[in-house]
Amino acid sequence: MSHTILIKNATAILPNGRALTDLIVQDGIIASIDTAATSRADEVIDATGLVLFPGLIDAHVHFREPGLTHKEDLRTGSQACAAGGVTSFLEMPNTKPAAINQSLIEDKYRLAATKSIANFGFYIAATTNNVSELAKATGVPGIKIFIGSSTGDLLVDDQEALERIFAETQLPICAHCEDETTVRQNQSRLGSELKLSDHSKIRDEKAALIATRRAIDLAKRHHHRFHVLHVSTAAEVPLIIDHANLITAELCPHHWHFNVDDYDRLGTLIQMNPSIKTRSDNVKLWQALLDGQFQMVVTDHAPHTLEEKNQAYPNSPSGLPSVENYFSLLLDRASRDECTWEQIASWTSDAPARVWSIVGKGRIAVGYDADLVLVDPNEVRTIENHKQFTKSKWSPWAGLSLRGWPKRVFVGGRTVYRDGQIVTEQPAARLQFDHALGGYWKTQNGVGPRKVLRTRSNS
Ligand SMILES: [Zn+2]
Repeated sequence: MSHTILIKNATAILPNGRALTDLIVQDGIIASIDTAATSRADEVIDATGLVLFPGLIDAHVHFREPGLTHKEDLRTGSQACAAGGVTSFLEMPNTKPAAINQSLIEDKYRLAATKSIANFGFYIAATTNNVSELAKATGVPGIKIFIGSSTGDLLVDDQEALERIFAETQLPICAHCEDETTVRQNQSRLGSELKLSDHSKIRDEKAALIATRRAIDLAKRHHHRFHVLHVSTAAEVPLIIDHANLITAELCPHHWHFNVDDYDRLGTLIQMNPSIKTRSDNVKLWQALLDGQFQMVVTDHAPHTLEEKNQAYPNSPSGLPSVENYFSLLLDRASRDECTWEQIASWTSDAPARVWSIVGKGRIAVGYDADLVLVDPNEVRTIENHKQFTKSKWSPWAGLSLRGWPKRVFVGGRTVYRDGQIVTEQPAARLQFDHALGGYWKTQNGVGPRKVLRTRSNS
C-alpha cells in the first residue's frame, strides 16, 4: 500500500543550493519538491526551523563483522550511522575472514541484510594473488588495496602484483597509502624503546608521500580510476589534484582535527594509520578541502575497545570511532562560518555517491531515494562516551560541545532515528553500483542532476 510523507517548511539543501520548501516522499522515493500547500499525505512533519540534508554516505568504515564483533558489528555500526545522519555506508574488507572473493563479499551482504539499519556496500580486498577474483567481482563499490599498512595478509607491496591489479581489473581502485619500506626503516632507526609520539615519526610524511605517488603513477600509466584514501599530509595535496580526471581523494575529520601535540592529552586514542601529523597539516588539509581538492569527507570509523586502546604503545591498535560525530563536527564548523551547508552536503553525500557510482543516492531530487536527515542547526550537545551507539562506547571527541545535530533520520522514507533514539530494527537495503557509466566524476563535473537509474526491477 502506498505511503506518503509530507515534510513541510524545511530549509532543504538541494543540488543548486538551499531553499525553503515542502517535500513529498512516496514509498521511499522523493516524489516532489516545493509541493503545493494543499498537498495531503499520510504523515505530515513540520520542519520549521530545521535543515533537510541528503542522508550522509560514509564511504570508509570498518564495522568489524565477521570476525571482530567484540569491537563493532553491523547492527551497532549501522545504529551509530543512523544517530550521526549516515544513511548509507561502504565498509572495508579487512574483516575476519577478509573479503577477498565474491563468495565472502556475498556472506557480508547476507549478514548486513539481517542486521544493518543503514544501506550497505562492501569493498573487495586485493591480495598479492587474487587478481582473477578482483577482475570478476560485481556488486561492490571498488577494490581496496593496502599499499603498505599494518593489516597483515592484505598488504600488497610487490610491484608486479600491483601492476597486475591495475592492468587486469575494471572496478575503481582505492588504496591506503603508506610505504612499508619507509615505515620499517623509520622503525629500526627509532629503536626498540618506542613511545607513542614515535608513531607519527614511523608513519611519517615521507611514507605517505612515497606510497601516494607510487599509486597515482600506477593509475596514470594504466589509465585506471583511482581514489586516495584518508590523505594525512599537506604534502600529498599537489599529487591528488585531478590528473586526467582519474584521481579522487578523501579527507577524514581526525586529520584536520588532531595533531602530534594532542598525543599528551589523548594518548593512544588518536593513534591512527595513516598517523596524525602536525598542526600545519591540519590547517592546510582543511583549506584544501575548502578549495575543492578533496571530493569527499569520510570517517575511517575504526573502533577498538577502550581496553585494547589503553594498552601501552606499540601494543595499542590504530583506529578510532567517528561515524556518529563527523556530521556534527562539520555542522559546528558551518555554525562558525568555516564552511557552508552546501559544501557539507557535497562532501558527505553527493560526492561519495558519484565517486562510487551509487545508484539513486546523494542528493535531494525527485526520483532519488528518500534517505534524508532533518538537522536542528542550533542544538548544542556535548559528546559523551556512554551515549555513543558504537559498541566501543567512546569517542576521541568526548567532552567537546558541538552546534548542529541530526534530529530525525530517514532511510528509504522510514524513520530510523529520532530525538536521540534508534526507532527501527528493520534492515535497510543493499546499495547498487553502476560502474557501466564509468567515472561520474569525469562526466558530471558536479553540475546538474545525475541521471537516475532505478534498478528495482531486478531485485
Ligand atoms: Zn580504513
